[in-house]
Amino acid sequence: MTIQWFPGHMTKARRQIQDKLKLIDVAIELLDARVPLSSRNPMIDDILQAKPRLIVLNKADLADPRATDRWISFFSARGHACMAVDSSSGTGVSGILSRVQDLLRDQLARRAAKGVKPRAVRGLIVGIPNVGKSTLINRLAGRSIAATGDRPGITKGQQWIKAGPGLELLDTPGILWPKFEDQEVGYRLATVGTIREEILNVEDIAFFALRILSDRYWEALAARFGLEEAPDDPDDTGEIVSLMEEIGRTRGALRSGGLVDLEKVSGIVLRELRAGKLGRLTLEEPPAQ
Ligand code: GDP
Repeated sequence: MTIQWFPGHMTKARRQIQDKLKLIDVAIELLDARVPLSSRNPMIDDILQAKPRLIVLNKADLADPRATDRWISFFSARGHACMAVDSSSGTGVSGILSRVQDLLRDQLARRAAKGVKPRAVRGLIVGIPNVGKSTLINRLAGRSIAATGDRPGITKGQQWIKAGPGLELLDTPGILWPKFEDQEVGYRLATVGTIREEILNVEDIAFFALRILSDRYWEALAARFGLEEAPDDPDDTGEIVSLMEEIGRTRGALRSGGLVDLEKVSGIVLRELRAGKLGRLTLEEPPAQ
């Protein structure tokens, strides 16, 4: 699904989520564990207001586990319940239920004290496109549900999905926009494949990715592509171009005449990075508290 985010769409998206907030007890804010801050909606606090919230770092299978721990500490220190999952395989997903119940413990106790008949906790998954909202909904539901409402011509009301004992989710997630104003954010999202490549130039994205990887994960990069020497300065354009040329030569990405085909090299680097072939990588660190 591609969404062109214009101001009108953002207003509409925000209003749709705010309407849904009235129906739910808890919001599950889904982020990409490889780029937790870049995959975050810039207005999320304002949109969710005081609604109890669980932050779930998804795609943890592709992220650096130590960095994921640092991100969990970061969000926890800011008062948010936070955990990591892999919705594709389901690792960690069953823990969502108990975290949600912890979060709502007081509220549930108050309800019980008033004699209100217990009912399932109601939740909404929110996040930017491609963070894995549908995958998580399907995983929690134990069957394929999400995205059916996106088909044109099918209109249906809100439906609750049973997502485990005592938890129900709205069947359509809340879709939010990323932070567009910051170019680095755009490049990080493009590197992990969360925003469409056509928006940015593929060579620029690969260049950006190699700059981060040389700095943070040189050994994994060198091992994967048979690279000899780490750049002295990852911010030096010439050194990154040399890396691209070296990869092009080892992978045979050459044009006629023997020149390295940078577009092809870029495709190789990004494809393998996104498929986890370079190991588990996180592209950004939590800001200093
Ligand atoms: P949505 O737009 O937020 O609903 O995202 P989707 O559920 O469509 O997921 C986007 C892509 O990410 C799909 O190709 C999923 O298979 C993949 N994906 C989702 N969750 C995970 C995860 O935890 N790990 C991995 N490796 N891939 C995931």
